[in-house]
Amino acid sequence: MSTFYFAAPDALLGWLKKLAADYRVLAPRREGRSVMFRPRTADELTDMDELLRRATASPKGAVIPHSETLVRFSSTKDAENPARLDTTLDAPCGDVPTVLFGCRPCDARGFVVLDRPYLEGRFKDPYYAARREALVIIAQACPTAFSTCFCHWVGGSPAGREGSDILFTAVDGGFVLESVTEKGAKLLEAAGFASGEDRRNEAEAAHRKAEASLGAPSTLENIPARVAARFRDEAFWIKETEKCLSCGACTYLCPTCQCFTITDEGSQLDGRRIRSWDTCMSPLFTLETSGHNPRTEKFKRMRNRISHKFSYYPQSYDGEYSCVGCGRCVVSCPISLDIRQVVKHAVEGAPEAVAEAAPVPAPKPAPARVKASSAASEPASPAGEPKAAPGAEAAPKASAKSEARPRTGGKSKSGKKSR
Ligand code: SF4
Ligand code: SF4
Repeated sequence: MSTFYFAAPDALLGWLKKLAADYRVLAPRREGRSVMFRPRTADELTDMDELLRRATASPKGAVIPHSETLVRFSSTKDAENPARLDTTLDAPCGDVPTVLFGCRPCDARGFVVLDRPYLEGRFKDPYYAARREALVIIAQACPTAFSTCFCHWVGGSPAGREGSDILFTAVDGGFVLESVTEKGAKLLEAAGFASGEDRRNEAEAAHRKAEASLGAPSTLENIPARVAARFRDEAFWIKETEKCLSCGACTYLCPTCQCFTITDEGSQLDGRRIRSWDTCMSPLFTLETSGHNPRTEKFKRMRNRISHKFSYYPQSYDGEYSCVGCGRCVVSCPISLDIRQVVKHAVEGAPEAVAEAAPVPAPKPAPARVKASSAASEPASPAGEPKAAPGAEAAPKASAKSEARPRTGGKSKSGKKSR
C-alpha cells in the first residue's frame, strides 16, 4: 500500500544531499541548451528548478551505459608449446547503488520496456540485471504535457507509477511523495518527512490537470497487425522516410531503444570486449562481415524501427509497445519527423482485410545474439528480400488471440490498460 509524505523544497534537497553520501545520484543538469541526467554530488544538489527540468536525453544510461567493458582478457603463451595460450577472463559485473531523481513517468516506464528483452527469456543480461537491481527510481509527476507528449497513446499517463519506486508531485509549498514499491517505501521511511496524507487531494488535482493538458487520445485500433500489414508496401515507407537523414538522434535519445554493438580492442594477447550503443537507423548497423547488408536503404531502416516499436515488440510482449510516448524523437529530429504521424499513416492506410493478411514473423529458437533486438526482430523476409542475419531472433508469430484483441494506444476500449 502506498504511503504519502510531504516535503518542502529545502527538505527534499536536504534528503537528496544525504542520499548522495550512500548512492550515486543521477539527476538533471543543464548543459547549454540540453538537460542531461548526470551523477551529482551533494554540493551540486542546490537548484530545485534545475532538478525539475525535463531532460533532453533519456535516463536509460543508468542501466545501459553508452559504452561498457563486458570482459577483459589476458593470455600468456606456453614457452614449451607456443601454440597453447593460457587465458584469464575478468568480467566486471555489478554496479554501485544508484538513485535516479527527477525522470518523468514515461521514462520510468521505459525501464519496464527494457526489462523484458534484457531480463526475460532464455538469456538474462547479468550486466543489465545488476544495474537494475541497484537502481532506485524517483520520478516526478509531469505538471503539464508538452505538445509532443503522447504517453496516453501507449498506455501511460503524466502521473503513471509503472517503473517508479517513488512518485513525487509538486503542490503548493512543496512536494507530495508517494511510495510505489517496497524499495521506495524503505527510502521514504528513513527520510523523516511529515505525513502527506492530508495533501493527497492536491496531488491528485495536479495529476488531473496534467492529464487534461494532453492532446486528444489515439483512436487507432489494431496497431500491431496494421503496421505489420504495411511491411511489403515499400512505396509507403519510401514516402514516409523521404527526408530522414539517418542521423540516429531519434534512437540515441529514446528511453526504449536498445540497439548495441560489440567490439574487441587490444592486442592479440590482452584486451577487452566492449558493448556500446548503436542505432538501427545507421546503414552500418546491419552490415555483415561478408559485406552483405540487408538494410542499405533508409526506408527499410525506418520500417524496422517503427515496426519494432509498434508491431514486433507488442507481438512478443503481451501487446505492450516499445514506445512510451516521451516525444523526444519528435522534438529532436532535425527534419521534424513525427513518429505519431508515421504510425497513424501506416494504420489508417491498412484496411482490415490487409491487416488480417499481414506477413507475420515466424517463430524461431533464440540463439545468442550479437546485436540487440532491433536488428534481430524483423519478420521473415518477403520473396526477393534478404533474410535476417544468421543468429538473428525472429519475433514470434502473432497469435489469433493477439490479433483479435483490438488495441487503442495500449488501452482496451473500456479504457483499462491492456497487459
Ligand atoms: S532523428 Fe529524424 S532524421 Fe535522424 S534518423 Fe531519426 S527520423 Fe531520421
Ligand atoms: S520512439 Fe520517440 S516517443 Fe517513443 S519512446 Fe522513443 S523517443 Fe519517446
